[in-house]
Amino acid sequence: MVAQVIDGKAFAAKVRAQVADQVGKLKEENGITPGLAVVLVGEDPASQVYVRSKGKQTVEVGMNSYEHKLDAETTEEDLLALIAKLNNDPDVHGILVQLPLPKHLNEDLVINSIDPAKDVDGFHISNVGLLGTGQKSMVPCTPLGCLMMLRDYHGSLSGMDAVVIGRSNIVGKPMAQLLLGDSCTVTIAHSRTKDLPDVVRRADIVVAAVGRPEMVPGDWIKEGATVIDVGINRIERDGKNKLVGDVDYASAAERAGAITPVPGGVGPMTIACLLANTLTACCRANGLTEPEGLTA
Ligand code: NAD
Repeated sequence: MVAQVIDGKAFAAKVRAQVADQVGKLKEENGITPGLAVVLVGEDPASQVYVRSKGKQTVEVGMNSYEHKLDAETTEEDLLALIAKLNNDPDVHGILVQLPLPKHLNEDLVINSIDPAKDVDGFHISNVGLLGTGQKSMVPCTPLGCLMMLRDYHGSLSGMDAVVIGRSNIVGKPMAQLLLGDSCTVTIAHSRTKDLPDVVRRADIVVAAVGRPEMVPGDWIKEGATVIDVGINRIERDGKNKLVGDVDYASAAERAGAITPVPGGVGPMTIACLLANTLTACCRANGLTEPEGLTA
């Protein structure tokens, strides 16, 4: 079997177009422009790239982008004061604090100071609790993007065996909750899982979110399974820098029914879902109907 490639780049473009269309309608019919505030503390090079990309795409879909760049020595008090200001700003519908924060800042405290209704990353404990109890919440962007691609490919996921490799708060755990919400039988595997190959071989859906280059070889994949590779790993091969996922793409593509590539799979969906979440937050804040297909 040669796997169908799930093209995350094309899918993300579709999501962005849908968001842009809805933003146009919001402006025209309601005079409202959704706004996303991104807060960056310090000068981490990867974070700077992400923030620039988020700002650019926010503007491209017609939303307002507010960037707050604070120096690495910013105090917790000043950061919390900025978040309080953004929480009270009616033009700001989404707030994202770029992680990781410098060591002297308490990440949990900072994230939990964001108004849950504006928490477009879905990391606030209220949103985590709402997702865990199957209630309407803001859903973390990367798992939301994975879910959208799975639903698009399969239609219903009901009754499927899914394995999520990785139990982080930002990917693994919310991914498992979302799959459970779509009636999969879910296994969460992690660094202490016994006989991981055997666990993966039973799965109709494999979501790999570990951060170890090509750790899942093709012979772990059940024939015809759907593989969603969240991992982004920079390696050097043949003297060149390369991005690879957590799955060995070449051998997995020979057994899977469908697979996301790295790059061009889950990555582009993450920012598209951030924009979708900002639109959703804006609609909820204004008591308007949420756009279909952009939330869990
Ligand atoms: P993390 O380091 O917080 O979590 C990694 C998880 O992998 C842990 O729960 C750990 O138990 C598990 N793990 C470690 N070694 C393992 C092993 N040998 N076998 C099984 N499980 C093992 O990482 P994260 O933030 O969840 O990110 C995971 C990967 O996804 C990284 O490569 C990251 O860059 C990528 N990522 C991509 C996007 C995107 O937009 N595509 C977004 C977030 C994260």
